[in-house]
Amino acid sequence: MRQSQLFTKTRREAPADEVSKNAILLTRAGFIHKELAGVYSYLPLGWRVINKIKRVVSEEMEKLGSSEILMSTLQNKETWEKTDRWDDEKVDVWFKSKLVNGAEIGFGWSHEEPIAEMMKSHVASFRDLPVAVHQFQNKLRNEVRAKSGIMRGREFLMKDMYYFALTDELNTAFYNAVIDAYLKVFERVGLGETTYVTSASGGVFTDKFSHEFQTLTDAGEDVIYVNEIKRIALNEEVFNEKTLSEMGLKESDFVKKKAAEVGNIFNFGTKKSEELGLYVQDADGEKKPVHLSSYGIGISRLMGTIVEVCSDEKGIVWPKEIAPFQVHLILLGDKAQEFANEVYQVLTDHKIEVLYDDRDARAGEKFADADLIGIPTRVVIGEKNLDSKMLEVKERGSEDVRMLTLEHLIDELKR
Ligand code: ATP
Ligand code: MG
Repeated sequence: MRQSQLFTKTRREAPADEVSKNAILLTRAGFIHKELAGVYSYLPLGWRVINKIKRVVSEEMEKLGSSEILMSTLQNKETWEKTDRWDDEKVDVWFKSKLVNGAEIGFGWSHEEPIAEMMKSHVASFRDLPVAVHQFQNKLRNEVRAKSGIMRGREFLMKDMYYFALTDELNTAFYNAVIDAYLKVFERVGLGETTYVTSASGGVFTDKFSHEFQTLTDAGEDVIYVNEIKRIALNEEVFNEKTLSEMGLKESDFVKKKAAEVGNIFNFGTKKSEELGLYVQDADGEKKPVHLSSYGIGISRLMGTIVEVCSDEKGIVWPKEIAPFQVHLILLGDKAQEFANEVYQVLTDHKIEVLYDDRDARAGEKFADADLIGIPTRVVIGEKNLDSKMLEVKERGSEDVRMLTLEHLIDELKR
């Protein structure tokens, strides 16, 4: 893409109404636009990153055998009444409205109930199970506070996956497979080292743990206790003598850290299916409630967390797999235009994603923008490169400048 066609502008100054690093950098670099507190629109660069993250998550969910669907945002009150979660006293984040005829409807803050209700139309026998489905869907939550930029939105993108099985064994096996798949996702998006599987309370459904995926960052709202050697962590809510002794560990084995919950997985057992009436016939013709588990990743929170972890004083440093483009090609001076156009064309022909800064602007401004936007590989072409046809290549986050031929660069990028 030619940068002259990118309608977004970079800004030198932090927006006055933002306090979090992710919102400040993403706004300054032109990735997001704030609509109102906790509500953001995604601009071309930001939407490219979201789609890259979605692709990583999709690939790992599909390997688990899950199929992608899209559930509705408007939801049925009766469905949520069956599990006693329509009441604002029980769920404090509901946005609700009314149809013209006066009937109440809800805006989806979660989809466990609607999806279990929907499955009643599709699963009747043990032969119809197991089923895994996932979606990328904007959730609406009337959060009390929204000060963490895109890390806590009132409207935000979530990947939610649901698994339906006849037995606890299958459900548990899938749950464990998802833990590995999630760790793979977080590694691919650049948070492998900083993200911990964290035991947390199981909520009202079970006395067992649920598991959160927590990324270490001061921008996070959670406090966890981390064992860096064993690579395990406990949420502060379950960090007590009893839990520690069950694990054969002691308090001094852990360090206290701030973290952001980027994912959360739950095993509901048969509780929800019993409440909603999701039953199947087993092999003996007996009626059995379906085992259900649910798996969330906050896609937009993940993007914000990546910015918090992967940035420096100059701007964002995108991990390779989710960067908006692979190469930021920078043209300096009119004389080099023809050669730069040619390099842009060849890279594009090789399916390398290039943001081509073809603008008529000063070198200092172009470099500052490149550092702010944070594309992994910067390639500069100026007058002095015309005779040798060598490209000046620098990785974001490193100061080393290398002189490479175009062939050599393509070779490196394709590896
Ligand atoms: P939190 O404790 O942070 O409010 P939650 O327990 O309400 O999270 P879930 O309902 O399990 O979260 O949602 C699944 C995932 O969606 C979370 O792990 C998180 O990554 C993301 N998420 C939850 N709430 C928000 C929000 N308001 N804005 C952005 N992402 C969110
Ligand atoms: Mg919440």
